[in-house]
Amino acid sequence: RALTAAEATELERKAEAGIRPGKLDEIIGQGRVREQIGLILEGARHRGTPPDHILLSGPPGLGKTTLSMIIAAELGVSLRQTSGPALERSGDLAAILTSLEPREVLFIDEIHRMARPAEELLYTAMEDYRVDVVVGKGPGATAIPLELEPFTLVGATTRAGLLTGPLRDRFGFLGQLEFYAEDELEAIVNRSAAILDVGITPEGAAQIAGRSRGTPRIANRLLRRVRDFAQVRAAGTITEQVAVDALHLYDVDTLGLDRLDRAVLRALVQTFNGGPVGPKTLAVAVGEQPDTVEEVCEPFLVRAGLVARTPRGRVATDAAWQHLGLRPPSADGL
Ligand code: ADP
Repeated sequence: RALTAAEATELERKAEAGIRPGKLDEIIGQGRVREQIGLILEGARHRGTPPDHILLSGPPGLGKTTLSMIIAAELGVSLRQTSGPALERSGDLAAILTSLEPREVLFIDEIHRMARPAEELLYTAMEDYRVDVVVGKGPGATAIPLELEPFTLVGATTRAGLLTGPLRDRFGFLGQLEFYAEDELEAIVNRSAAILDVGITPEGAAQIAGRSRGTPRIANRLLRRVRDFAQVRAAGTITEQVAVDALHLYDVDTLGLDRLDRAVLRALVQTFNGGPVGPKTLAVAVGEQPDTVEEVCEPFLVRAGLVARTPRGRVATDAAWQHLGLRPPSADGL
């Protein structure tokens, strides 16, 4: 049985645990968000109040979970973790909220996927540290208000635009995480290699960083694969050649596109003749969840200049045709 995406993520999270930065100043890159959050925490410390609720948005693997852990650590409190899809019934959320310790940080990943009743419960919880638990059904039902300990909610979402207005408005700060620059990814790879105790040359680190799609999680994942290769098939150190050979073996191309990215690109170029085509149609064509294609593949393909978003759908750029070794149609029109 193949792993589901959720299971694969869970496994990966375990592998990541040891190399996660633990303090705000260990975070590489994201200078702006880091400074903004640092200031919020400092201000809260000054006043002795819990900081405002924080919403972190950005593609998977950019550090939203890491930041939430750091926020709790910097506040000296523990972190309670849950996710939108796990909060199907409002009772699930009420149980968590009423059991929070004073000033605890509650992290809700994929907060845009929370069921509506749970979301509505969150409104008063965020605003007044109170939940109204409805007991009974029909005309006899009564709402019992329960006081909560003051807490800080950190919500994470792949796109802030997916949140409803009322929920978004209840956050005091919206931090938008950006894709990482190549030198930042190199620094992350070097830091992780030191923790994993594997030697790496600057050229080796550059190869991994350049194919990491601007994403620390991918950089660390590729590093682990290249480390295996270095230790089993080479002399143990990650040199440029070792990195190139290993990444070739794992089907990661020079731009960092993996099988799914290439499948999406190929479908767009070959099946739909370069587009325009709707993102959902594209997802169906490659047999993937629309969410995965829209939130994981597409932002990167757009950022890499291979796909453009237009009002009529997605279109392949000339660079996309060239990357697949094909002649772009624009080359014929002349
Ligand atoms: P998200 O919650 O956004 O999906 P995570 O916080 O789980 O992403 O980050 C994925 C991995 O990438 C973490 O295990 C961490 O080791 C690494 N990482 C993320 N951001 C940074 C960073 N700024 N500096 C160093 N490592 C990072």
